[in-house]
Amino acid sequence: MAAIEMKNIVKEYGDGFPAVNDVSIDVADGEFLILVGPSGCGKSTLLRMIVGLEDISSGDMVIGGKRVNELAPRERNLAMVFQNYALYPHLTVYENIAFPLRLAKMPDAEVDAKVREASSLLELDEHLERKPGNLSGGQRQRVAMGRAIVREADAYLFDEPLSNLDAKLRGQMRTEIARLQKRLGITTVYVTHDQTEAMTLGDKVAVLRRGVLQQHATPRELYENPANLFVAGFIGSPPMNFLPATLEGRTLTLPFGTVEISERNAERAAGHEVLVAGIRPEFFEDASLTDEVRAATGVTFEADVDVVEWLGHEAYAYIPFQGHDKVSSDLSELAKDLDTEGQQAQLVVALDSASRITAGSRATLWCDFTKGHLFDPVTGFNLTLDEDNAGRVTGALPPHIAAQRAAQ
Ligand code: ATP
Repeated sequence: MAAIEMKNIVKEYGDGFPAVNDVSIDVADGEFLILVGPSGCGKSTLLRMIVGLEDISSGDMVIGGKRVNELAPRERNLAMVFQNYALYPHLTVYENIAFPLRLAKMPDAEVDAKVREASSLLELDEHLERKPGNLSGGQRQRVAMGRAIVREADAYLFDEPLSNLDAKLRGQMRTEIARLQKRLGITTVYVTHDQTEAMTLGDKVAVLRRGVLQQHATPRELYENPANLFVAGFIGSPPMNFLPATLEGRTLTLPFGTVEISERNAERAAGHEVLVAGIRPEFFEDASLTDEVRAATGVTFEADVDVVEWLGHEAYAYIPFQGHDKVSSDLSELAKDLDTEGQQAQLVVALDSASRITAGSRATLWCDFTKGHLFDPVTGFNLTLDEDNAGRVTGALPPHIAAQRAAQ
């Protein structure tokens, strides 16, 4: 296996617009990296540059310590699994898996050993003599993976491999891929636009927006400490709530009440006429279900609940609120990229499934804002980010982190 280093990678197509703009990411030997972002953010282009299917406009692509910019795909020893895992319909499962080995003119006995090892790993033993047309989508996907893993490549690249499968199968395959990757210890780069896949599969996740790397960190770091509004809104379902907020001293006024924030965060967020407060749905609760100790750590408020979705293990309550014109216009580009344009301003809160709050009622809710973030609505930066747990934050940096790094 090999490590992959992407150094200041740029890709400009004919019109000069950079589809990938100065991206630097290191993938350690045996690591599972996810490239994620909305359609058109450049993730497939980046993957294609790793594998050699796309020329690199500038920057260095280094695989296993060797610069590969000028090497043809077949000279890079990488295996790729595509979304449209084109299997050969006239060949059996066995021969489909064996295909790259036959091309390499490997002796029959060795081919047989390798195909059987892969098929047992992927639970395809009983299907080896069948043709792809007689297999289910998931089985076909496994054959495509089998064809990739027999190669003993230096790294494995996946381009949205599960997007053609139904939701249940996607969940199963996700677990299988994670298991297989850990078992084989293979360096993997996996492209997806699905944030659930990104969170559950990757050791590290690189979030791209319009060709620019936003944050490269572990799934937990991305979730708990997003570098900016885009990452905060993209990772998590239901997404983080964005609320207009104003700050005076340490008192933060939110649409539903006021909270005291730490002195350090108040200093970082000072000087903004209006801020975007970000708080995830799970940091709210039905106030009647919080004990006294917990209640004292947060703020209690009344709200008119519009809709309640009861899911069994928890419930989501939706609370419309009055948006803020300046914030809405500052965030219009973000809404485009997050696909939330035209949505009504509403708070989504996750409640314990024991909650009896109903749609159309006035409810007493509780919120723990110590887990909240404050963002600059113009630049999108997370003003309350701590560098220690933010992973790699690239592009323009939040001012307090830029100052910290400059001082180092
Ligand atoms: P998707 O999830 O829709 O595949 P993506 O994040 O993988 O999107 P890319 O396919 O990498 O995005 O495309 C990134 C940008 O580069 C897009 O704006 C796209 O229109 C542009 N692009 C891709 N291929 C070409 C090409 N051959 N010529 C010109 N522009 C291209």
